[in-house]
Amino acid sequence: MPSKRYARVDRDYCVACGCCVKVCPMDAIAVWHGVEARVDEARCVGCGRCAKECPAGAIELKERGMQP
Ligand code: SF4
Ligand code: SF4
Repeated sequence: MPSKRYARVDRDYCVACGCCVKVCPMDAIAVWHGVEARVDEARCVGCGRCAKECPAGAIELKERGMQP
């Protein structure tokens, strides 16, 4: 069953440190071209570990199916 939540990175805050990548149990987040972290929403289970780890506060958990 798909998770209700997924992580989303605010690219304006991300400093591409890679801390989120190390803690993700699903391999769902990666630093794209050394510029910003990007989440594979299909793999993300919304556990929130990346958000807790992010020193820049760049990750938010969003409800699936609810567009901004
Ligand atoms: S919420 Fe969990 S599964 Fe999703 S990207 Fe962050 S650490 Fe990975
Ligand atoms: S931990 Fe935060 S600042 Fe670092 S790469 Fe991930 S989203 Fe960007």
